[in-house]
Amino acid sequence: MQIIKQINKRFLYITVPLIILLIIISIFFIFKNQLTSAKAHYHAGFIVFQNNKKLSFSDSKYMFIEPCALNQKSSDSTAVVQIKKAHLHDNVGDLVHIERTGAIWQDLFTNINFPIDYSNAIGYINGKKIFNFQTQSIHPYDSLVVLIGRNDSKFLKQAVTKDYMIKMAKKSTTCGD
Ligand SMILES: [Zn+2]
Repeated sequence: MQIIKQINKRFLYITVPLIILLIIISIFFIFKNQLTSAKAHYHAGFIVFQNNKKLSFSDSKYMFIEPCALNQKSSDSTAVVQIKKAHLHDNVGDLVHIERTGAIWQDLFTNINFPIDYSNAIGYINGKKIFNFQTQSIHPYDSLVVLIGRNDSKFLKQAVTKDYMIKMAKKSTTCGD
C-alpha cells in the first residue's frame, strides 16, 4: 500500500504538472508563429547549383498561388503564415517574396518543397560564405547562392542582383504584390 501511495503522490506532484507544462509549451509554439510574425512585403534573390548545374525553380510546382480574397484576411493560420514568410510568384524562380516577418532561408526551401541536405551545401549571402546560411534571417535584397555537392566557385558571379530583383518585383502580376 505504501508503495502505491508513493506512486500516486509522485504522479500527482510530478507527472501531472509536467503534462500541464508540456501542453502550455506546445500551445506557445503553435501560436508563436502567429504572435511574433507581422505582415511585411519585401524581396530577396537566390540561385542554386548542384554538381555544376544550375537548378530552375520557375516551374509552377514551386509557385505560391493565392487568390485576392485571402490577402485581405487579417488572421492567417499557422500554415498560411509559414508559406507567406518566403515564397515564389509568377513563375519567376529566383525572386523570393517575403510577406511575413521572421523569415529565414530554410523557410523558403521548406515552402517550395525542395529539401536540401545542408551538410552537403554551402551558402553565400551577398557574396560572403555563411556558415549555417539556412538559419539566417532574410533581409531585403539579400542575394543567396547555394552550392550543393561539388561546384565551381565561379558560379557566385551569377548571383541575383538588386536591380534584377527590383525589376522583377515591379513586373509581378500577383495580386497583392
Ligand atoms: Zn512580392
